[in-house]
Amino acid sequence: MIQLFNTLSRSKEPVEGSLLRIYSCGPTVYNYAHIGNFRSYIFADVLNRTLRLAGYRVEHAMNLTDVDDKTINGAIELTQKEPGKYADLKNALAAYTAPFTEAFFADLKTLNVVKFDYHPRATEYIPAMLDLVERLIKKGVAYEQDGSVYYRIGEKKDYGKLSRVDLEKNKTGTRYNTDEYDKDDVRDFVLWKAEPQTGVHWHSAHGDGRPGWHLECSAMIHEIFKGPIDIHTGGVDLIFPHHENEIAQSEAGYGGAFVKHWLHCEHLLVDNRKMSKSAGNFYTLRDLLNQGKRPEVIRYFLLAAHYSQKINFSADALHQAEAGVEKMYSLWQRGERAAKKAGEADADFAQTSLDARKKFTAELADDLNTPRALAVVHEYFRVANSLLDKEKDSLPMATAQELQETIRHFDRVLGLIDLMPKAGIGADLQQLLDERNAARAAKDFVRADALRDTLLKAGYKILDTKTGSHLEKIKTDA
Ligand SMILES: [Zn+2]
Repeated sequence: MIQLFNTLSRSKEPVEGSLLRIYSCGPTVYNYAHIGNFRSYIFADVLNRTLRLAGYRVEHAMNLTDVDDKTINGAIELTQKEPGKYADLKNALAAYTAPFTEAFFADLKTLNVVKFDYHPRATEYIPAMLDLVERLIKKGVAYEQDGSVYYRIGEKKDYGKLSRVDLEKNKTGTRYNTDEYDKDDVRDFVLWKAEPQTGVHWHSAHGDGRPGWHLECSAMIHEIFKGPIDIHTGGVDLIFPHHENEIAQSEAGYGGAFVKHWLHCEHLLVDNRKMSKSAGNFYTLRDLLNQGKRPEVIRYFLLAAHYSQKINFSADALHQAEAGVEKMYSLWQRGERAAKKAGEADADFAQTSLDARKKFTAELADDLNTPRALAVVHEYFRVANSLLDKEKDSLPMATAQELQETIRHFDRVLGLIDLMPKAGIGADLQQLLDERNAARAAKDFVRADALRDTLLKAGYKILDTKTGSHLEKIKTDA
C-alpha cells in the first residue's frame, strides 16, 4: 500500500485503484530547462517508477506549454532578428519552441527519466480549450469582457481549497490578464485572452485570442483521460494560482471530482540562494554537463533528499552524490567480476537481500521517502562488500545472482545503472554527441562545431546519416 502526502488534505493518504492516471505539469518551452525544473521532473519519474515497482499500472502525461506570454515574446524577437523569414507569427512561434522542445526530450533521456505515455502540447488542444471556455460560460462562472473571457472566482464556493488562499483579499470585479500573479492578489483570472495584435491567435466566438496558461492543463487532462485523475504533480510554486485555477475550471466545467492526490515538490536552492540569472547561479542541465558534471551524479543528488524538503545544490552536495553513485557502480562491477563458483547459495545473504528489497520498497511506499530508501541501499552495499571481502571475491553463482537482482531492484527506481559509463564508446562521448546534435538543431553552430572538435580530439568522428548521428573511431596508423 502506497501512502502519499496530499496537498489538498495536508495529510498522507493511501493510493487506491490498479490503474493510476497521472498528470505532471511540464516545461514552458521558451528556454532550456534548469536544474530546479529537473527536480520536479525527476520527482515525477520517482513517483512513476515507485508505483510501477509496487505493481500499479500507470498512465502518465507531462504537458509542454508552447504558447504563453514568454514563448510569444520569444517568437516576436525571432521575427525581429530575421524579418521576412516566417510566414506569420504562429510560424515563428513553432520555430522558436522547436529546439527547446527537442532539448527537453534529450535532457529527460540524459537523466534516464522513464518515457511518459503522453506529452500534450498546448497548441494542439485549442478546440478542447475553447470547449471548456463555453462550458464555463454556460455554467455562469465565466464572463466575457473586451474579447477576453475571465473566470469569476466568487462564483465557486470552495475556490482556494488547495492553496488555502485568503479570499478576503479578493478584489471583487477586478481581473488578471497575465498568467502569473501571487497569493496577495486573488482576482478573476483569464481563460481566453484577446490577442488581435500579435498574430498568435485562434478564432473563437469571442474574437481572435489564445488560451490562458491555466486553461491549457485543465482541457488537456480532460481530453487525454476523459475523466478525473488520480494524481497531479508539480512544483510548490504551482499550487497558487495555477493548480487552484485548474481545480476551479475542471470542477465547474466538467462536473464532479477532478484530482484525488495533489503532490508538490519543493524548491531547489543553489548555494543556499534562489536560482536567478542576475545572481549568476542559474544552471541549465547543459551548463552542468559542460562543466563536467555527470548526469548520474545529478540524478542521484536529486534523489537524495525528500521531495517535500528544500534542497541546496552545492559542490559539497554533488561530491556526496558522486560518492554514492561510485559505491553503487563499484559494487555492481565487483559483483560482475567476482568468480562464480559452484555450491549452495549463502542463505544468510539471501535473507539479507530479500529484506533489503522489501525495506527499500516499503520506504518508498511511505510518501516516496528516497533518503531512507537510499539508506537501506547503502546498508546493503556495506553487507555485500564485506561478504565479497570475506570470500575473496568469489561467490556461489546463486549468491552472485542474488546480489545483482537486488541492485537491479533498487535501480528500478534509482535509474542509475543505465547511466553507468560503458567500455568502448563511453557515456560521456554519447553525451557530447547528444549535446552537439541539440546545438545543431538549435542552430548554434559555433557550439556544435566546438563539440565536434572535442570528439575529434577524443578520437571519434561524427557520421551524420539519414537514421541519425553516430560516432566512429578514427583509425590510427599506430
Ligand atoms: Zn499545469
